Amino acid sequence: MKTPLCVLAALAATAFGQTAEMKVVTSAAEALGGKDKILAVKTLTMEGSGVQPNVGQNPLPDAPLLNWNVPEFKRTIDFSSARMRVEQHRVAQFDFALATDVHQTLGLDGNIAFNVSADGRAQRVSDAVAADRRIEMLGNPIAIVRVALDPSAKLSNLRRKGGEQRIDITTAEGDHVTLAVDAKTHLPASMIWMTSSENLGDVVNTTVFSSYESVNGLKLPKHYVTKIDFHKWVTADIQVAKNTLDGATGDLAAPANVKSAAAPGPPVISVDAQPVGKGIWWLAGNGNAFSILFEFDDHLTLFETPTSEARSKAVIDKARATVPGKPLTEVIVSHHHFDHTGGLRTAVAEGLTVISHKGNEGIFKEVTSRKATLKPDLLAQSGKTLKFRGVDDTLVLKDKSMEVVIYHVIGNTHSPLLLMAYVPRDKILVQGDLIDIGWTQHPWADNYAKNLQMRNIDFVKDVPVHGKIATHAEELAALAAMKKAR
Ligand SMILES: [Zn+2]
Ligand SMILES: [Zn+2]
Repeated sequence: MKTPLCVLAALAATAFGQTAEMKVVTSAAEALGGKDKILAVKTLTMEGSGVQPNVGQNPLPDAPLLNWNVPEFKRTIDFSSARMRVEQHRVAQFDFALATDVHQTLGLDGNIAFNVSADGRAQRVSDAVAADRRIEMLGNPIAIVRVALDPSAKLSNLRRKGGEQRIDITTAEGDHVTLAVDAKTHLPASMIWMTSSENLGDVVNTTVFSSYESVNGLKLPKHYVTKIDFHKWVTADIQVAKNTLDGATGDLAAPANVKSAAAPGPPVISVDAQPVGKGIWWLAGNGNAFSILFEFDDHLTLFETPTSEARSKAVIDKARATVPGKPLTEVIVSHHHFDHTGGLRTAVAEGLTVISHKGNEGIFKEVTSRKATLKPDLLAQSGKTLKFRGVDDTLVLKDKSMEVVIYHVIGNTHSPLLLMAYVPRDKILVQGDLIDIGWTQHPWADNYAKNLQMRNIDFVKDVPVHGKIATHAEELAALAAMKKAR
């Protein structure tokens, strides 16, 4: 006779008056130094250094991520008030068109998240960021064991994975995380949680705790590595030089102006269609990544579905409304970087064929076949799969009404698989990430000039993904001004 599972679960739950899950938490608390000591901790400060890789911005889809070095990192947590402050100094280890050396102060006060700028001004940020930071605050053994010990937390689903025991925790605030405990030492080994990404759908995040040291009778890790399941990308690797318990933290509270401000909602998206040539529109509006629409005899072609599903759906709708009689059938995607492919899943959901460098087919297939259960997006609802047309050196899209020549940008270090497009009739160039007259630095100016020369392109207007429409003369002036400023 089989014993029903619910009876087994009930037996597990009642043995010694403690659930099997609570036993795991209790033994983890013991291994760290004891439940009473953990609950008595008021504040934890970790100071150290490390790297924060630039996710989704590697030069080639399979290349390692490039790093922001973090020479100074400090995380301060006040457990009793649920407040956290992260102060970090980041230096880009790659060519970048914006600031490459930045100091950031990121705050959380309960459910209020805020950023403090270099001049000391604090500004409230979205509830979505607050939710992420709430989880981030749990990403250390003291915090996660404290929330697990909270009687209003729900513990469930004890299982064994390799040398670990894992339990799911629903915190008193309703956040879902998994605690993994080393089955031998009983020390917390990692925290695992899910997030939703515009590019990747469901993402499994793991922060691994290692190199434990003893501080005031409690064990604390000196090494934190956070990874995502996609390509096992490391998103942060921090070595702690100094753990401090109950030290002075300064004021971690959100300033009054932040508390009284409403949390900014999701960005309001506007897309306008600005005609830039016969049968060519710049689909710009607000935001900082735009699309271009080309009208052929019997169909429409887009260049770029960037940023997010919301942005790209608005762009696709605008394209269809701009030329109502013709179907939108395809999108040219300049390169795989995540800001340019935030709407790749959306394009596939909308039935568009994706045209990109042939070297991007693999990553595009991967990205568009991932699940999105946490926040089912249009792709998850559509059940569609990627239709891909690869470009090698050149692809000409041509009929009676329109000719668009797609070129592989040769020798570009930002993205060796970058594409740009040219309309010979109107002398219109379409590009992203080669130049933007608003940039403060132009790391790819020489490569840009070389490619224009190599392809014999003499454009009248550059209608870009980032920035403003510019003439070639305006771009050369921006480059000359930069050289002079140096
Ligand atoms: Zn890029
Ligand atoms: Zn870009």
